[in-house]
Formats: sequence, structure tokens, C-alpha cells
Amino acid sequence: MTTPVAEPRQHSVTLPLTARRVALGLTALLSLALLYFIGVDQGATSLFGSDTHIHEFVHDARHFIGFPCH
Ligand SMILES: [Zn+2]
Repeated sequence: MTTPVAEPRQHSVTLPLTARRVALGLTALLSLALLYFIGVDQGATSLFGSDTHIHEFVHDARHFIGFPCH
């Protein structure tokens, strides 16, 4: 006697076009912010003045990704 195996249910989620646009916009904004903080923020050109805290915080990620640093 074999036990019937339940098939996993698969659902597709459809988002309205407005929700997709908002999700795309937020993803692009977050990506650009991450790109700025990891790749551009150098302390002297920082949006937050001559503070190097953000640069030092993402310093290892900067080297790991391969951005030129020092
Ligand atoms: Zn470095």
C-alpha cells in the first residue's frame, strides 16, 4: 500500500501595475543608495560632510566588490 503524496500547491501572484512600478522604483532607489554609499562616498565628498564613518563602515564591502579605494 502506497501513501498518496500531496502535490505542492503553486500560486502565481500578480501585482497591479502601480505596485510593480512602486516596487521597481524603490528597488532602483535602494540600489543607487547602496552604490553611492559603497562606491562613491569617500568622506571628503560625503553627503554628510567630512565624516568618514560611512566609508569605514562599508570599507570591506568596497574592497570585496572591487571598487578602487586607496
Ligand atoms: Zn580601502
